Amino acid sequence: MIKVTSPDLMKINNKKQILEIIYSEKNIYRAQICEMTNMSNQTITNLVKELLNEGIVKEVTLENKSKGRNPMALSIDNENICAVGVEISVEKISVGLFDVDGNMLNDKSHIRHNDTENVLDIVKELLEQVISNALTKKILGIGISIEGIVDSLSGKVIKSKSLGLDGINILSELEYLGIPVLIKNDVDMLAETDYGKELLNNYMLIKLDSGIGAALVLDGSLLKSSHTVGEFGHVKIHSIKAPKQCKCGQCGCLTTEASISAIEKKTDLSFESFVEQYKLGDSNIRNIIENVSRYICEPLINIITLLDLERVILTGKLVNALGDEFIDSIKEYIDKSLNSFSSYKGLKVLNDVNVINRCASYVVYDYFLNWKENQGNFPTKI
Ligand SMILES: [Zn+2]
Repeated sequence: MIKVTSPDLMKINNKKQILEIIYSEKNIYRAQICEMTNMSNQTITNLVKELLNEGIVKEVTLENKSKGRNPMALSIDNENICAVGVEISVEKISVGLFDVDGNMLNDKSHIRHNDTENVLDIVKELLEQVISNALTKKILGIGISIEGIVDSLSGKVIKSKSLGLDGINILSELEYLGIPVLIKNDVDMLAETDYGKELLNNYMLIKLDSGIGAALVLDGSLLKSSHTVGEFGHVKIHSIKAPKQCKCGQCGCLTTEASISAIEKKTDLSFESFVEQYKLGDSNIRNIIENVSRYICEPLINIITLLDLERVILTGKLVNALGDEFIDSIKEYIDKSLNSFSSYKGLKVLNDVNVINRCASYVVYDYFLNWKENQGNFPTKI
């Protein structure tokens, strides 16, 4: 590992600060940057020169009505830089190359047919193909979303469903590409890339899928822990009449009643069939789904009250497939159970999310705007 000395760190921080200003302001003159920072003219001139040479920043001429020679303004060189997004899920592996504005330049996907494939080899192969299409563009980083528990700081996968990646350090495995890598659990990635649209401080994102997972953003930051934060599937539901044994060793966990796998077992039908029967109005299936809504809402209402959540965001295959009626029943249950002084603003649904686009956008956000949070880690290396 390269040892970063304090003058180096100061230089990196100054450079990042300049980049943040240029990215936020779109077009800006050097003199304005000088006014906005504590840096000297000479420092700004030197660091901007480096950024120009690296192809991250370009000089632009702005229309100026004053006579005489106008100074060159600075802006981000959008045509010259890009970011990569990667989705590693039980169903598919997708890799995409995006420009700074989120437009897709190139993508490759692999649909998983069995659990014996080497996921890491497929990820590397798709990444190499997509990266080769970046040609001379500078790649800011690779953002990876993975279904499973992952230590984002070290890059090690702790537990990964049927992906066969348990114990593997993705950051070390991809080091040979020479591009900074940022890896997050899939639910965390969705929660963290839902910022900005509403300026919310406290919210929870729940994924209802073959399993159940959640992510909490509190006071504007994702709640992190090395173990079970967000394991919403393993909260206990005491109103279950005959609690079933869960994989975690306990009985009566939410996931044993409300996940797709649990509903498949209970109805003895495939996912597609129980969704079809639900839509046709089968009373038995309707009852089961009604209980699913109730089981989800029981702990959820307490979490909303305890943490004064402003929103709950629902996503996942179950939410997409069952649609409005299912969502409305959850909405109704929450609305009637909350007290009048709650900050809660309502339920939001995320359907058909473009995960690789979100991963790439997160890289851009992290590179230009979130660098103070990541000192010593991704992506201060510029
Ligand atoms: Zn459990």
